[in-house]
Amino acid sequence: MSETEPQPKAGAQPLGVNSGGYRGERIDIGSVLGELHAEAVNRSWSSEVFYTSDRFDLRAYRCGGVQALFRLYISAGIHGDEPAGPLACLRLVRETNWPETLEVFLCPCLNPAGFDLNTRENAHGIDLNRDYQDLKTAEIRAHAAWLDRCPDFDQSVILHEDWEARGFYLYELESEGRTSIAREIIRNVAAVCPIEPSAEIDGWPAVNGVIHPRVRPEDRSDWPEALFLSARQGGQGHTLEAPSDFALAVRVDALVAGTLAVVEHLRNHPVSNRL
Ligand SMILES: [Zn+2]
Repeated sequence: MSETEPQPKAGAQPLGVNSGGYRGERIDIGSVLGELHAEAVNRSWSSEVFYTSDRFDLRAYRCGGVQALFRLYISAGIHGDEPAGPLACLRLVRETNWPETLEVFLCPCLNPAGFDLNTRENAHGIDLNRDYQDLKTAEIRAHAAWLDRCPDFDQSVILHEDWEARGFYLYELESEGRTSIAREIIRNVAAVCPIEPSAEIDGWPAVNGVIHPRVRPEDRSDWPEALFLSARQGGQGHTLEAPSDFALAVRVDALVAGTLAVVEHLRNHPVSNRL
């Protein structure tokens, strides 16, 4: 490892509580999303309910746009046992100084029922992040339709956690003409959270916490959200995975730091390939 490679943060240690699944801290998703909504409205974000049922609504937020050269999409909370994502969205809305060149689209929680149950799946036992091609579930059908109504995003950041991971890692789906920003993300996250050391993660070869999955949408039928975006919109995509055996605050810091690395990159390289 060279001196420029990220070093694990001292002090952030695994808790050793996860066994057979996530066993860590839970959140009250209703109050987190209520707080996020108030913060967003205060900061002049617009909001839209794109799915409603007798149990929950799904909401998307949007800010910027007048001067925007670049469109960034952020989503979280599709797995109900991964609380760091929605909390990171709250922090991002509250604390980020967004560049004027950026238009931001945000879906802070796609599976509220899963959070109530502390399950990866929705209330019917379906992993929503495998439903973007078949569109069996009403909520993902509605989300896919909302995504299709949006202008194409240049960049997406999808926030997840992995209960088995020993450190933070990410998937990067590259797009033509864009340079990789994986190292910038890892460098930022390494200041707040250890990076996953394994050379193989989830069956993929990994280098210092970075996976470049060689997967074409036509090769898979159980599309995750990232593959839907890649197939429909073609922008660059990053799926950030925080290690959920660490303290919740560390995982939130990791997801915020990773997303802010993308925002800083876009601040410095604001011109879309599409213009
Ligand atoms: Zn996940």
